[in-house]
Amino acid sequence: SAEVIYGKDLAAEIREEMRQEVARMKQDGIIPGLTVVLIGEDPASQSYVKGKKKASEKVGMKSNLIELPASTSQEELLDLLNDLNKDVGVHGILVQLPLPDHIDEQAVIEAIDPSKDVDGFHPINVGRMMTGEDTFYPCTPYGIMVMLERANITVEGKHVVVVGRSNLVGKPVGQLLLNQNATVTYCHSRTKDLSAHTRQADILIVAAGKAGLIDGSHIKDGAVVIDVGVNRVNDKLTGDVDFDSAAAKASYITPVPKGVGPMTITMLLHNTIKAAKRIEGK
Ligand code: NAD
Repeated sequence: SAEVIYGKDLAAEIREEMRQEVARMKQDGIIPGLTVVLIGEDPASQSYVKGKKKASEKVGMKSNLIELPASTSQEELLDLLNDLNKDVGVHGILVQLPLPDHIDEQAVIEAIDPSKDVDGFHPINVGRMMTGEDTFYPCTPYGIMVMLERANITVEGKHVVVVGRSNLVGKPVGQLLLNQNATVTYCHSRTKDLSAHTRQADILIVAAGKAGLIDGSHIKDGAVVIDVGVNRVNDKLTGDVDFDSAAAKASYITPVPKGVGPMTITMLLHNTIKAAKRIEGK
């Protein structure tokens, strides 16, 4: 049965490396600084931003959480971002999504200086990723790439099937895999005969947000299965993949929780350190 890739353990390893790197940067007078902006009081978002703040402080970075009421206008938010763009102590800016309905999410994403866009959502950075340039990659897709790399799973020449095509996960992870010379198939909610595609996968990435969408019958013997889904079922967190039947067939599999999730914040820290180095010219 499959070897389990624990993102949680990999993340701890990488964060220790980062802690040492941040300590070296401090000796050069640079403290990477992340500012997170949260609008409103959505409990899930509040818990995400607290996790991001805690993780950045643990590696020695400076972190600042700006919490604003749900009534904040788009203009006020854009003004704030303009100030943060100019603030030399701020290397990374992240606006926690989703935003209240009266604020245009795309306008906010585009108002962040691309050189401080540690989420990698600005169209300039999305475009650079597409053309294969070095840039800030979105954290969940990038975390998946680093997981594969650290587990010594080669991507080149492999048939990768991605289930899900969101701008947040599915689309960018497929692009990063293509950049590494994989053959990429995207499946989504209108795909006909999903399992005919998924059974072809050497590497199957599932990011649909549907508990139990994929089970052992969808998987080729020896495939690598990366489960990005996070679903709450009967008050328990579960992925999109039925773990037991999939693990019986796969060569490698990621669990939920303790899989992809912890890698996401880790790559946010990575991007913030990278932003700090670039801005400070190191
Ligand atoms: P989304 O809702 O924006 O996109 C879901 C995608 O799945 C869509 O492209 C849709 O076409 C596809 N899909 C839905 N039902 C399908 C079906 N029956 N068959 C095939 N495709 C189907 O979601 P998202 O933001 O991309 O997130 C996907 C999942 O990943 C969610 O469970 C989310 O919570 C999770 N997620 C986890 C992390 C993490 O760090 N672990 C980060 C982001 C998202």
